[in-house]
Amino acid sequence: MRKELFNNNHSSTAFVLLDSKLCQACWNCLDVCFNDVIGRINLPWHKHIKFIKASACKGCMKCVKSCKTGAISKIFKENGGYYDKKY
Ligand code: SF4
Ligand code: SF4
Repeated sequence: MRKELFNNNHSSTAFVLLDSKLCQACWNCLDVCFNDVIGRINLPWHKHIKFIKASACKGCMKCVKSCKTGAISKIFKENGGYYDKKY
């Protein structure tokens, strides 16, 4: 089901979207992002990534490929809207 996106709360860049509920804090995506877009929330009771420098994202999709849980997905832009899945 498609979902229209709104940029807020460090949960997306122009190219990728984070579902923090799916993040298992493996930090793989931090290792592959060479633009320092991704940071971490690393509290004992609360761990997941967040996009700390969204404007630096180049859309290389390395973070999407590195994520085994599907927490990061590509954003598609079509028909004047922004969606997290092809439809
Ligand atoms: S798409 Fe590329 S530049 Fe953007 S956050 Fe992911 S790894 Fe970093
Ligand atoms: S690769 Fe996926 S599960 Fe691992 S820290 Fe990044 S978003 Fe979370």
